[in-house]
Amino acid sequence: MPVDLHVHSTYSDGENTPEQLIEMAKTCGLASIALTDHDSVGGIKAFVEKGIETQIGTIPGIEFTSEFQKSEIHILGYFIDYESQELLGILNKIQKDRKDRIVKIVQKLNKIGIEISADDVFEIAKNDSPGRPHVAKALIRSGAVSTFKEAFDRFIGHKGPAYVGHYKLTPFEAVKLIRQVKGAPVFAHPAVSDRDSIIPELMACGLKGIEVFYPTHRPEQVERYKNIAKKFELIMTGGSDFHGENSGRNIKLGGVAIDDKVVDELRKASI
Ligand code: AMP
Ligand code: ZN
Ligand code: FE
Ligand code: FE
Repeated sequence: MPVDLHVHSTYSDGENTPEQLIEMAKTCGLASIALTDHDSVGGIKAFVEKGIETQIGTIPGIEFTSEFQKSEIHILGYFIDYESQELLGILNKIQKDRKDRIVKIVQKLNKIGIEISADDVFEIAKNDSPGRPHVAKALIRSGAVSTFKEAFDRFIGHKGPAYVGHYKLTPFEAVKLIRQVKGAPVFAHPAVSDRDSIIPELMACGLKGIEVFYPTHRPEQVERYKNIAKKFELIMTGGSDFHGENSGRNIKLGGVAIDDKVVDELRKASI
């Protein structure tokens, strides 16, 4: 049975609630899905409860945005203790900084003549982990740009005039934290980060898997990461990184799926 191990909800920058995602998983024939919101576990309780009711398997997860030498590295965590006070304390700090950062991004936009307000962005996000995709939506709504891509290319992308970073863990800290809260840490979309040299050090911190199957991974990259997984004895995971049907990403829930035996491997590795 297929499972999708990388899914975002309205608790970060996804368009669907955790409950809707479960219904959609049932419709498209997935046995289980993992909820992996950016720097948030806010949706997990509702997700797990709906999964029990609907008989769809649920894997409590997270996707940390981390940074190493100015590169953004995403670390997934599966089967985390999402009620851990230690985890919630760190997420609180990250989320507070994400909100402060929205204000700074909007100030930069205002300086260059674009009239949106931080409240416009918070109203779109409606959650504790607001991000640039919510700013992009506000920019589209205001008429300043017409697409997500234009918003990132002209204003809020890494090199854009309104780019502002936010407080992040290092990838090593993220892996260690996930282990501390009894989760299985996985290197997300490694071809996107293009930092394979850190894999041995991530493993020393407790890395258990690598996201081999991912929408933008080309066949030769999938081969490369399969070989790396074999060499380092890492679990091969995969997922669609679904953000919603109208998120500007051309991928459906379950559009990248893997066999459910990986769920057992991750569960074992998470103990
Ligand atoms: P943030 O975590 O707030 O910095 O936002 C990062 C998110 O923005 C990523 O997870 C993507 O979903 C999205 N994103 C980043 N770069 C682009 C881009 N060039 N075009 C569209 N979406 C992007
Ligand atoms: Zn996202
Ligand atoms: Fe990611
Ligand atoms: Fe993601």
